[in-house]
Amino acid sequence: MTDAETPAWPFLPRRGRPPMGIARAEGAWLYTEDGRRILDAAGGAIVANIGHGRREVAEAAARAMERVSYVVPPFVTEERTRLAERLRDRWLPPGVTRFFPTSGGSESVDAAIRLARQHHVSAGRAGRWKVIGRDLSYHGATIATLGLGGNTKRRQAFAPLVPELPKAPACYCLRCPLEKTYPDCRVACADALEDVIRAEGPETVAAFILEPIGGSTGGVLDPPDDYLARIAEICRRYEVLLIADEVMCGFGRTGKRFAVEHFGVTPDILVGGKGLAGGYAPIGGVFATDAVIEPLVERGDDLMFFTFGGHPTSCAVADCVLDILEREALVERAAAVGEQLRKRLATLEQHPHVAEVRGRGLLLGIELVRDRSTLEPFAPEDRLTQRVVGAGLRHGVFLYPGGTDPARDAIVLGPPFIIGDEEVEMIASVLETAIDEGVARVEQSGGAS
Ligand code: PLP
Repeated sequence: MTDAETPAWPFLPRRGRPPMGIARAEGAWLYTEDGRRILDAAGGAIVANIGHGRREVAEAAARAMERVSYVVPPFVTEERTRLAERLRDRWLPPGVTRFFPTSGGSESVDAAIRLARQHHVSAGRAGRWKVIGRDLSYHGATIATLGLGGNTKRRQAFAPLVPELPKAPACYCLRCPLEKTYPDCRVACADALEDVIRAEGPETVAAFILEPIGGSTGGVLDPPDDYLARIAEICRRYEVLLIADEVMCGFGRTGKRFAVEHFGVTPDILVGGKGLAGGYAPIGGVFATDAVIEPLVERGDDLMFFTFGGHPTSCAVADCVLDILEREALVERAAAVGEQLRKRLATLEQHPHVAEVRGRGLLLGIELVRDRSTLEPFAPEDRLTQRVVGAGLRHGVFLYPGGTDPARDAIVLGPPFIIGDEEVEMIASVLETAIDEGVARVEQSGGAS
């Protein structure tokens, strides 16, 4: 490929089909440069919670930009204060009061690990540094956050650089890693965290991080109702900070402001990103209880900032997006429309290649298998997920690819909360068609397994 033939975007040009050119987006719809309309059933990367193209958000951004383009994160600006107050007063779980803004999910998780470490060091427990994660999880693409995550596929290539951190088992009832069955198991996978803490030595463990409801890696792993409370109890017993990574499932996505609310648990540290500004600006945040920051305050310790953390424009945009979610009762709508979509997907639950439909609100995962009765997956070379996503696009719906072994193939749904009957019907019917077409193409190509 010569320089002249190389397109300026994307970074790595792909052979074959050119990437989708998007001319504009409005509501739950994307409009392509070649005149097609595509339903955004993934809200981008599970981001566009209020839908696309809201003028009021653009105007809030313009006003903020005109007032103060940039000042260092510790300085106070009207936008920063307003967003912090709205979060504390109307969004964060009770007891979670502090807000450290960043520019996205990975930065937030990275800062959350630093905060956990600094909390213990400032409190005189310098021996505590390990952060335990879980299998089948994802916490970001930086070198440190890849080490926390249990997405082996994404971590593999960087192995020598990525810190090897301890892992507790995933809570994945369909293919229980402990080969037990709920509820007889009495959530033994939560108790397994205690075994990991004890094996590592509690005096070395700073924190445990989990996605209360999982994202694309495991195809939206949704634990039973008593799992998280048990985890919280174990963390408390060993003075291990509980970090809830709600980058994907937070800010209304699962039908509650934060997924932890489904389980009646308050984490020590909460992490958010994606939906905080609904995709209109890059922003993420670390949220913490007073008890977490007290030792730092006492010692006069500070949390290192990122240059663009709390960017005034991003703060103004996030404030406006949260205001829209409140005014239009969109979190409640995510719960109601999620229920409607889930009911509409009931037919899929009998589909020969669907192992399970799971999730809450408008964060749903559909795990696909070759054989529903044995849960045998398709072969990796069959690339079923990619084929289903491709078929979805041909039929005008953007579905989000997910899955990593043993949840090899999964489709994730995360549409804007504003979708109505037409969109619910279209997502469900195209998803079914796309699965059938994807499987048919695997079979036509001789199927590797
Ligand atoms: N944490 C979770 C749970 C996520 O789902 C993601 C992204 O998908 C991240 C962290 C990383 O966020 P970002 O891609 O904004 O850096």
